[in-house]
Amino acid sequence: MPAIHHPLQAWHTALLDGLNRRFEETSAQEIVAWALETLGDGLSISTAFGASGMALIHMALSLDPYVDIFYIDTGYFFPETQALIHRAQAFFGRNFRRVSPPLSVEDQARHYGPDLHQRDPDLCCHLRKVVPLGRALAGRTGWMAALRRDQAPTRAHTPVLRWDPRHNLVKIAPLARWTEADVWRYIRTHGLPYNELHDRGYPSVGCWPCTRAVQPGEDLRAGRWPGRAKTECGLHRGPEESVP
Ligand code: SF4
Repeated sequence: MPAIHHPLQAWHTALLDGLNRRFEETSAQEIVAWALETLGDGLSISTAFGASGMALIHMALSLDPYVDIFYIDTGYFFPETQALIHRAQAFFGRNFRRVSPPLSVEDQARHYGPDLHQRDPDLCCHLRKVVPLGRALAGRTGWMAALRRDQAPTRAHTPVLRWDPRHNLVKIAPLARWTEADVWRYIRTHGLPYNELHDRGYPSVGCWPCTRAVQPGEDLRAGRWPGRAKTECGLHRGPEESVP
């Protein structure tokens, strides 16, 4: 399929449905290859440097060493995450695009008061994640992320492909059908770097004020926003957005 430059015209529901049926039978590597070929340099990959993200980055860079890969630096990374970014950039031999929120942590505290993450985490996530994501994806035609259905009930129905009307592009989740075991098999097989917090009970690592270790048997994302009903930061909304 040639590169698609007019997503609103091209990504109609029937096409997405047909591709999703096909991608339920194909490997993650084949989906990544399809996305790179179809979307060309309109494709961006976002990562928060989780275990799945490291596998996805490796797959993509094996096929296209220049593909756009970005991360949102909220200003609240754990030191272990900062260390992983340095190790990952050395391992892959290239840098990733760092995207910052409009306000520094200090300026946000001046404008909104201290510890907004405790008082209004939805607003904090909006300012520090959702707004910069929109800027990072402006003008892009495809967005690839390492979402998996087994990560949380809110992600159980993640399609491989869906239309994202918020960013006006097609969103791709090549690892949607993967399990936690699949990810770690891939990481061990390829000797990929990963966040050492994963070895200390943090299967999902986000901002340090809003992340704790999980107990055996807990949901993989149970350590995010502990004690609150909040389960997602707003970056990845549900498949109800799949219809153009
Ligand atoms: S995860 Fe916590 S610290 Fe990070 S942006 Fe959201 S509320 Fe703020």
